[in-house]
Amino acid sequence: MTAREDRAQAVDAAVGERELDALLVSRLVDVRWLCGFTGSSAAVIVGPADRRFVTDFRYLTQAREQVGEGWNHEIAQKLLEQVAEGLRAPARVGFDDTDLTVKDHARLVELAPEGIELVPAGGVIADLRAIKDAGELERIRAAAALADDALTEVLARGLVGRTEREVALDLEVAMRRRGAQGASFAPIVAAAEHAALPHAEPRDVSIPADTLVVVDWGAQLDGYASDCTRTYATGQLDPEARALYDLVERAQAQALTAVRPGPSGKEVDAVARDVIEGAGHGEHFGHGLGHGVGMEVHEAPRLSRQASDDPLRAGHVVTVEPGVYVPGRVGVRIEDLVAITAEGHDVLSSLPKALQSV
Ligand code: ZN
Ligand code: ZN
Repeated sequence: MTAREDRAQAVDAAVGERELDALLVSRLVDVRWLCGFTGSSAAVIVGPADRRFVTDFRYLTQAREQVGEGWNHEIAQKLLEQVAEGLRAPARVGFDDTDLTVKDHARLVELAPEGIELVPAGGVIADLRAIKDAGELERIRAAAALADDALTEVLARGLVGRTEREVALDLEVAMRRRGAQGASFAPIVAAAEHAALPHAEPRDVSIPADTLVVVDWGAQLDGYASDCTRTYATGQLDPEARALYDLVERAQAQALTAVRPGPSGKEVDAVARDVIEGAGHGEHFGHGLGHGVGMEVHEAPRLSRQASDDPLRAGHVVTVEPGVYVPGRVGVRIEDLVAITAEGHDVLSSLPKALQSV
């Protein structure tokens, strides 16, 4: 059985568990995961008795090639109208309430035949997508390796005297040259006090000597993302910056030891948070410890104080990225991409974490 047939059957099972007859899949990234379709217009109805793939005429040929025979192909000008009119009553049909607009929902209700009950069912595909199969893991591993190679090349050209924006652009180009479709998000290159902004945008400002530089970057390769952060020194550091680096490195290492099947994302977050709070910097670690990575750079599961109590599971791929940000002064973040395995975990990020001067 192919991975894709497995996926459709996993959705059938989830649909059954929720006492639904079928699920409307409206997010394109979910459609791609389920059917392999990479175009920009599609909707899917999937369930034990349904395999409907709806797209518009531009994608007739592409859909035949990518989606294959297991699905009933339908071509429509208005996808949702086609979906609604083709529903067979009576049925409970789940829809993604985290995606479908209020307007589209109203239209579906209006057009669906008598006897169709539309049921909010967000998260069905997200939860399935969170568990990666072997092929997906290989792709994420390859994206991470490509991103690491690209940063290694860029660092060899030095940081001091180049602007943050130049370095970020250089990194994007280096990833593209190695075959990435692009960066999985706009790279962050943030020096000195600018690094105290967790989502800093690269500036047209030269990177000075004797400071810290946060680089947060990832590649998009073959449909999958990577995500990693390293913080580099550009010479001698003052004692405060050095101490913060050591603190974040320690918190990151501690949290990693907790990453395995069993604990919840909330519990793993607490491991890093305890280390940072113990050093008096709790208020300077304002974001969650990590997030799932796959076809999207931010997906399920979450590792944070607000995360669910569901246990982490083998097949999850998550980041472990504590940070400490002292406003106006200094910021440090260290992030690894980690695959959770039956035995524990496998770190996919390969660049060293001991403080390195560039
Ligand atoms: Zn990141
Ligand atoms: Zn991240």
